[in-house]
This record gives sequence, C-alpha cells and structure tokens, in this order.
Amino acid sequence: MKELIDKLYKQNNLNREELLKLLEGMSKEDVDYLISKAHETRMKHYGNKVYPRGLIEFTNYCKNNCVYCGIRGLNKNADRYRLSLEEILSACEEGNRLGYKTFVLQGGEDTFFTDDKIVEIIKEIKNRFPDTAVTLSIGEKSYESYKRYYDAGADRYLLRHETATKELYEKLHPGMSFENRRRCLRDLKDIGYQVGAGFMVGLPGQSNEDYVNDLLFLKELEPEMVGIGPFIPQKDTPLANESRGTVETTVIMLAIVRLLLPEVLLPATTALGTIDPLGREKGLKAGANVVMPNLSPTEVRKKYALYDGKICTGDEAAECRMCIEGRIKRAGFVLEMSRGDNKLWRRR
Ligand code: SAM
Repeated sequence: MKELIDKLYKQNNLNREELLKLLEGMSKEDVDYLISKAHETRMKHYGNKVYPRGLIEFTNYCKNNCVYCGIRGLNKNADRYRLSLEEILSACEEGNRLGYKTFVLQGGEDTFFTDDKIVEIIKEIKNRFPDTAVTLSIGEKSYESYKRYYDAGADRYLLRHETATKELYEKLHPGMSFENRRRCLRDLKDIGYQVGAGFMVGLPGQSNEDYVNDLLFLKELEPEMVGIGPFIPQKDTPLANESRGTVETTVIMLAIVRLLLPEVLLPATTALGTIDPLGREKGLKAGANVVMPNLSPTEVRKKYALYDGKICTGDEAAECRMCIEGRIKRAGFVLEMSRGDNKLWRRR
C-alpha cells in the first residue's frame, strides 16, 4: 500500500485498479500515511492557510426531488423562505465587516429567482463590494444563463456531481439527468468560472467502485474546487432511516482528492462537522483548506435543513467567525482573509 500511496503522492494519479486496491486494502497505518502525504501536499501548495467563504443560504424552495435532500420540493414539512435582495445585501455587509472576501449564494432550484433577479443580485454585490468574489450554487441552468451570471460578475460556481455512477445518480435524482449535470459542469468550465464539483460519501448502496468513478471523474474534469461531505439522513426524506456516511471514509476521500489535484480548494464541510465535533479539524489535517462559515440570518438557518443535526444554527455571524478562527488556530492552521482564488485560474 505504501508504494501505491507514494506513487499517488509523486505522480498525482492512479489508475482504476490502483485506486480500488487502495480503497479496499488500507490498514489504519496506511490511512495515517495517506493523510500525512495529503497534508504535505497541501503545505507545499498553500502552506497552513485556510480560506473562509461566507455562505448565504438565500432560498430553500426547490423544484427538484433529490431523495436525500431535506429541501426537496415534495417535502411538505419544509418551512420555506426566500431572502429579499436587501436581506442578501445585509448579510454581505456583515460578511464584509468581518473580513470575508468571498460570498457563496446557495439555494434550491427556485424558479422565483429568474435570471434577471440573479443578475441583479450579482451586480449589486459586486457594486458594493468590488474586491470580493461571488460564488453561485444554484443548480442546473442553461449555458446562456450561466454566461449571463458570469458576465454580471460571478466568479465561481459550485455544482457537485453528487455521484459519478449513472445508475446510482438516477436512483437518487428522480426526473433529473446524469448527462445534463455533467453538461452543466463542462459549460461552467468553458465559460471561465472557477468550478466546484464534488460528491457525497456513504450514500445508500454506494461502493468502492462508485468512489473510484468519482475520483477518476474529478481527475479528468480538473475542477478548481471539490466539495466532499458525508451523506446525513433527513427525517422527512425517503432516506430517513438509512445510515450516515462516516468521518473515516470522508477523510480518506479528502486526502486522495488533495493528492490527485494538488492545487484544489477543498472545504472541510459543515456536514463533516455535523457527524463529528472535530470533523472539520480532521478534514483540515487531511488536506482540506477551505471553511464555509454561515452568514445567513439566524432566523432562517434551521429552515435550510438539508440533513438532520446541522450545527451552528444559532450563532451570529461574528460569533461564527471567532469560533472558526479559534478552531483553525488550535488545529495548527491560520485563517487567510484574501479572496483565495485557485492559483491556476485567471478570469477571462
Ligand atoms: N441546488 C443546488 C445544487 O443542486 O447544486 C445547491 C443546493 S444543494 C442543497 C447543496 C448540496 O447539499 C448538494 O450538492 C448535496 O451534495 C448536499 N446535500 C443535500 N442533502 C444532503 C444530505 N442529506 N446530506 C449531506 N449533504 C446533502
């Protein structure tokens, strides 16, 4: 195993058989070695810096029905909300005051927010906070819509591929198309966004072969960012009684992705912090270098309930910033308040 890990460390690549062998055969010591190599790689490219992104969850309306997700359209128990332009801007104002240089606008696929409205939001944010990056995470759109947002000033786009196994994707996403999601990711890259793909860990029926598909897909796509988090059941979804993903497997995936894509921006996700009080720290020590503190108004945080047990729903933005900073320092890292663009990317 050690030779395979060394090869991954040196060549930033492994083939299908090698990745499968790695996932199936690692002992506890091998995993520790993998994590140490991922950490070394992160230190070489980014040092001990951790980039914060202020997350604004601006709508929990969604027309899709992803079977794992608490804000799926068919969930009648979801308490729906939308933030107004003023509320979004005041969250940015608070983020700006706290030093954040990236705002991530995330939401369900909400038809209320037409392209004109999204363009208006992007332009207002860019106007008021010209030195900040705007990241969108609002799902599948046409090439033309993505282009309009980019031309309005959006810099980055997060669209997890969720799983790179077609059969599993289709089971989890009724009425959605595996090919369309991939088309979206290609369009976003073509337009010039810094793109974030990614997947969940521990989905019902997910196997090591499926993880290998995810890892190979990411290596081929070469996204600037990769979001990986454990699946966590939500009580009002069809997957309510399934078991959650584990910290161990999530951390292994983070470490492998750091080694496959050494320059990638890799969040230690809130979902990882939800399944283990030290989950985010474990992620940071395995190669993750981004955190996404919540800037949404506290009244709506509980309503953006993708999964059960979401942490930090009561913290004011300022409290959240202090808490994250303390945790990062104690784990041996430093919060870096610049925009934190991927080093390989230049805006066209
Ligand atoms: N609608 C946009 C999209 O589809 O990309 C963005 C919002 S979506 C709720 C954000 C991410 O939440 C998804 O990409 C998915 O991986 C994650 N997510 C949803 N339900 C989850 C669950 N039960 N456990 C863990 N992650 C979940």
